[in-house]
Amino acid sequence: MNNLIADIDIISGEEAKATDYRTSADENTGKTRKLYIESYGCAMNFADSEVVAAIMKDGGFDTTSDFYKADVIFLNTCSIREKAELTVRKRLTDFQRAKKAKPGMTIGVLGCMAERLKDKFLEEEKLVDIVVGPDAYRDLPNLISSAEDGQKGVNTFLSREETYADISPVRLNSNGVTAFVSIMRGCDNMCSFCVVPFTRGRERSRDPHSIVEEARDLFSKGFKEVTLLGQNVDSYKWSPEENNKARLNKKEKEVSTVINFANLLEMVAQVNPALRVRFSTSHPKDITDEVLYTIKKYDNICKYIHLPAQSGNSRVLEMMNRTYSREWYLERVSKIKAILGEECGISSDFITGFCSETEEEHQDTLSLMDIVKFDFSYMFYYSERPGTLAAKKYPDDISMEVKKQRLSEVIKKQSETSLLRNKLDLGKEQIILVEGESKKSASDYKGRNSANKVVIVPAGNYTKGDYLKVKITDCTPATLFGEVIEINPELS
Ligand code: SAM
Ligand code: SF4
Repeated sequence: MNNLIADIDIISGEEAKATDYRTSADENTGKTRKLYIESYGCAMNFADSEVVAAIMKDGGFDTTSDFYKADVIFLNTCSIREKAELTVRKRLTDFQRAKKAKPGMTIGVLGCMAERLKDKFLEEEKLVDIVVGPDAYRDLPNLISSAEDGQKGVNTFLSREETYADISPVRLNSNGVTAFVSIMRGCDNMCSFCVVPFTRGRERSRDPHSIVEEARDLFSKGFKEVTLLGQNVDSYKWSPEENNKARLNKKEKEVSTVINFANLLEMVAQVNPALRVRFSTSHPKDITDEVLYTIKKYDNICKYIHLPAQSGNSRVLEMMNRTYSREWYLERVSKIKAILGEECGISSDFITGFCSETEEEHQDTLSLMDIVKFDFSYMFYYSERPGTLAAKKYPDDISMEVKKQRLSEVIKKQSETSLLRNKLDLGKEQIILVEGESKKSASDYKGRNSANKVVIVPAGNYTKGDYLKVKITDCTPATLFGEVIEINPELS
């Protein structure tokens, strides 16, 4: 799950390489040692880094934004596309320079690249001291101690239970308004192009009470929006029976029924009407009408669904093992529009040039985009990943030139439909949540409407975290512009 990266509404794989990473900020809570953490890839990875920062805080570390000042440097990696791996390798050589100046420093690789590259990074290239997979972060303090004693530390064990439910994340680089909340880990889907099931392990859902508690805690600290994260949120499923009853407290044991994603959405929406709820990612095969009706029922559940299509052609979808057809996808979109109205934001991910994709099949993707009229999309050309089903079964036989040509056509189509969709908002009154100053001008503020579109408004007598009623006056394909009508209107 790639998305939700502020300010980037339409990206190609190449642009993503340059932009979708985050570094830790300076923090001083009196701890004696410093941690620098740089995270690549998807929102799940950014959320994981916040769990890592919490574990490290308990181990005596504050975060820093300057890796030269760090005692420990972590690179939380992504291996979804080959380019992400190349970036990480380059970064590790930069960190080696810092280590030369400060030999006691520990460098660690975390996350999705850990398992695949542990031998290479640790033993062959000696670029790092520790390598830790996404389910082994509780072991970090031990591994750091071992590294400080001169032993290389590795733990890439993938768990069937770990959800870090009890860990209260340290918010890194936070705007103080919006936060990610992980609701599940791993993925059982086995899309043929995707490494996630191999790097992040089996799907497991987090205890709903800990999710609601985290949302409540965030709201009490002034946050106004939570985004519930999972690779396939619609398959969220939790019950005391399935989730080891012996370990549960009395309140948890009282829940005898299964909690599905619709139930969880409702539980989080009820925390407070002034706390917005978003979620990502929805899988077209799993999104239910029950979820759609729950979104409709609560004003504070945002009317926006990220529903990656990947392709508009049924044969390609079958080869991708997405387990839905073009017709199924279009039926789900019709249902979303029927239940939540045309104003509900819908976005997608697309992969161009997947194995054996013909020009005609590529045209099906463009025609699907014409029919659905996505508000925005994250678009990539196919990058073969070792170990995936596609790498084993299908030749990567579309030339880079054709992959890139098709990607540019998909990006162009998306830009046209984004503008078209944004124009429909002109003259409308909408509620936005202010996230902070606009990156381009300190005299403007940036917020988002329910459909997840960025809205720029002139600075006024309000601040981040305020809700504004605005009238949309102008737009580009990526941004809406508005004038403020009312500050903190009553929220129903
Ligand atoms: N779980 C989400 C879903 O099923 O839609 C997406 C998770 S994946 C981390 C994010 C996106 O990266 C995918 O939707 C897909 O478009 C893209 N992606 C994954 N593997 C890829 C590959 N091998 N080459 C190019 N893009 C890929
Ligand atoms: Fe990868 Fe498919 Fe799982 Fe998404 S649903 S993480 S694309 S295997």
